[in-house]
Parts: sequence; C-alpha cells; structure tokens
Amino acid sequence: MKDLVRKHVLGIKPYIAGKPIEETKRQLGLKQVIKLASNENPFGASPKAVIAMKRCLSGINRYPDSQGYYLKKRLARHFKLEPENFVLGNGSDELIDLLIKTLVEPDESIVTSEGTFLEYEIVSAANDRKVKKAPLRYFKYDLGAILKLVDKKTKLIFIANPNNPTGTYVTKYEVAEFLSSLPENVMVVFDEAYDTFIDVDDYPDSLSYFKRKKNVVILKTFSKAYGLAGLRLGYLIANAELVHFIERVRQPFNVNILAQAAGLAAMEDKKFLKKTRRLTLQGKNFIYDQLSSMGLGFLPSETNFILIDTGKDGVEVFKSMLKFGVIVRDMKQYGLKNFIRVTIGTQKENERFVRVLRKVLKEKS
Ligand SMILES: *Cc1c(COP(=O)(O)O)cnc(C)c1O
Repeated sequence: MKDLVRKHVLGIKPYIAGKPIEETKRQLGLKQVIKLASNENPFGASPKAVIAMKRCLSGINRYPDSQGYYLKKRLARHFKLEPENFVLGNGSDELIDLLIKTLVEPDESIVTSEGTFLEYEIVSAANDRKVKKAPLRYFKYDLGAILKLVDKKTKLIFIANPNNPTGTYVTKYEVAEFLSSLPENVMVVFDEAYDTFIDVDDYPDSLSYFKRKKNVVILKTFSKAYGLAGLRLGYLIANAELVHFIERVRQPFNVNILAQAAGLAAMEDKKFLKKTRRLTLQGKNFIYDQLSSMGLGFLPSETNFILIDTGKDGVEVFKSMLKFGVIVRDMKQYGLKNFIRVTIGTQKENERFVRVLRKVLKEKS
C-alpha cells in the first residue's frame, strides 16, 4: 500500500488524542474512570445550548445553513465587527487547515514554536507544507526567536496564546513589539482557545491589533469553556477580503445544524461561562497548593490545565494513573519527558487526581 500513498503522507506523525473514558473502562475493567486529558469542560455543556439543540433535532433531515448566518451575526455583535469578518469551522482544527490551504504556496513555509499545539505541524504536513519551529524560552513562546525564522518564504505564523501544553502566555508588550517588526505580507494567527480562563492584566487585546493590521487572524473555539467539544465548532476572525477567499476553500456544510444552534445559544449563556471560569480558577488553585505540598514543579497556567514536572518518566506516571482510573496526558509527543498535563476537573475529580498522583509517585520512588 505504501507505494500508492503520496510521499508527504508517509511522513505525517499521527495525532494521539486523549484516551477516551469508555475505551479505558473496557480495557482495564474499571467502573469509575475520569478523564482529565483533553482540556474539555468538566461541568458539562451550556444548558441553554442543550435546549437549543433539542429544539432543532427534528430539522436534521435538512442541510445546515452553509453561511452560518445567525451565528456570524451574533458573533459580529459580540465583537463589534461585521459578519464578513468571520469564518465558522468544524472545530478550530479545520480552520487551521483552511488557512494553510488558502494562503501557503508549495514552496512557502509556516512558522510556529516547539512545545505547542501539535495540530499546526500535523495539518501542515498533511498539506505538504514545511514548518519551522522556534524553541520555547522558559516554557514560553519566544517571539524574538520566531521573528528570526521568518524569511522571504514565510507566509503564516501560528501562535497559541495562551499556549497548550505549557499554559503560558505572551504579553501585550511582547506582541506589540513582535507585530511592529513583522513584515505585513506574513499572516499571524493568534489561537486563543483558552482566552476565557485568562486572569492577568497584560494579556494582549488581539482584537485591537486585528483592527489596525490586515495580517492578524484570531482563532476561537467553543470546545473548551463553552463545553461543546463533541459538536466541533470554532471560528476565525479575519480581514473581510481574506474571509472571502477562505470561504471559497471551505466545504459548504462544514458546520452542522446542531453546532450552529448550540453555539448561538451558548453565547447567551453568560451564567454558564462565569461558573466555568470561577470553578476552573478555584480548582486550579486547589491543585497548585497540593502540588506545592508534594514538592512538585509546575507552570502557573492561564488555561484550564496544568503542566506538571513529575520528576519521573511521564509516560510511566500516565500509565500508573490510568490503572487507578485517572486519565491524564503524557507529554512525550511534545518532547517533555518528565511531564504530564492535567485538565482542571470538578472538585471531586481534582481530589481524586491528587490522591492518585500521590500514590503513584510514592510507589515509584
Ligand atoms: C483545544 C485547542 C483548540 C480547539 O480545537 P477545536 O478543533 O476547536 O476543538 C485549538 N487550539 C488549541 C491550542 C487548543 O488547545
């Protein structure tokens, strides 16, 4: 079969997703399994979104609105922009793909960082496009190092802010300096999947940059704080002219009826978003305290997950925790050998995570 497959496909590293709960139960014969591995919302989905979906179930014999008219209009109102500034995607993963397909010629390259969201590299490889990666600096995106990688052939830059899996962010000062040095013919994408969880004053207002510069694109998702990961819904904010071209590349029915209805309703559910944010910050502080008392290193995070230095092989820690029904993420794929990443869960889940982590680390020493 190998000789039939296109050459660049042979080189694509498969994306390894967080282990699903059902699969873990089946494989290990466990009854109670918790998943803290994919940065999903542990408090469920927005109740308003669930009601809205139920209401349109009887209409799913029809194709969805290919323009996403109501959702784009609602997003435009929210950001004080025009509907023409938005593209809806089957998760922001799809938008990463569409950006590459729309912008990057075969001989052009994409720049991002090491130790970041793996989809940038995987989707680039699937499109047979070259990626250059700047090293992280103290577990943070190093925008200076990224600038150094930019050359005449660079078309697109991906910056996850805050970053997954480190939970760190680049400040408004860093971004301002970066943008002032970046050539205008290089598109920069700020992937803000976790912006709801930000709790600092110097996080950049990417929208203000977007309004001043044509080469800024912003990516957002309903998968994390809004609790709609299973529906697949994300959007990008871009210059209307660029949106126009991305729309030509997009599959007409990429966002299904339920996702459009749920997204629209979730935007009205301020209560759910506030609760998610409050409980996530609480849970994060609880886990910080526990990790400190265990003497473990971790990175302060502006997201709903924490990167933890276990001082041992992260894959082993992951496997041991799995036996106790707690799914976390090892960081081998990211080249962070001794680390695990844990998503903030409900208080009960956080307590169980800490209990099992203590047990597993004691056993191993
Ligand atoms: C989770 C995540 C996304 C969201 O992906 P979807 O396809 O919208 O579910 C995007 N970027 C980063 C950095 C993420 O961690």
